[in-house]
Amino acid sequence: MEKAYINEVFASIQGEGLYIGLYQLFIRFEGCNLSCSYCDTDNSNKKDFEINGKKYLNPITVDNLLEIIASEFNLDLYHSISFTGGEPSLQSDFIKVMVTEIRKQNKGVKFFLETNGSLLDKLIELDEYMDIMSIDLKMHNKESILALPNLFKELGKLTHSSFYLKLPFDAYGHEEKNIDYLIEQLTTNGIKELIVQPLDNMVDEKIIDKLFAKFSKTDITIRLIAQTHKLLSIR
Ligand code: SF4
Repeated sequence: MEKAYINEVFASIQGEGLYIGLYQLFIRFEGCNLSCSYCDTDNSNKKDFEINGKKYLNPITVDNLLEIIASEFNLDLYHSISFTGGEPSLQSDFIKVMVTEIRKQNKGVKFFLETNGSLLDKLIELDEYMDIMSIDLKMHNKESILALPNLFKELGKLTHSSFYLKLPFDAYGHEEKNIDYLIEQLTTNGIKELIVQPLDNMVDEKIIDKLFAKFSKTDITIRLIAQTHKLLSIR
């Protein structure tokens, strides 16, 4: 029986990216294979977690979590169920069982993966289980930068899920050579859209001007989208 460490389960709007403003059920997993300096998720494998003010013990089985979700939430209300983290794809077996079970009962709700895109085999494994993948490009992380060609190649193999790419950046932006490399890789792989996301909504206008100037010389459209859930002070 698959078990996972859950951080929280809650209903809210999607605050970031292409599907901003849609109502989702978020299942936040604990644990991540990266350690970004700006991470705001507690990945400490907590011994318990809360759903609607009630406490449950970790690790939890798929069956238990499905039972709780069925009693606490009406899945007909949501555009999609967002598997988030942490890095949710670390729990791919758990997610696959969950999606299979939910699909038997509810044909309408979509499945959404929020991932750092570093576990390529997991992305391919989860393709048929997801409808949408939101992939963060971790351009502050050397390994993630080196893995970009492989990531983009694997994304070309997705047959079921659609995906979009987000570039989080802080008030210092990213090194110019890394942005140049990103543009080169996006262009080579025919990817024409990128969402840029200021972390914690801290924006330096000079960095934004430079970024838009750089991308204006390419075929890639960039769109700056704030973290709206933080503006609204909700989860
Ligand atoms: S990938 Fe996401 S969850 Fe993992 S350390 Fe970075 S910000 Fe945190």
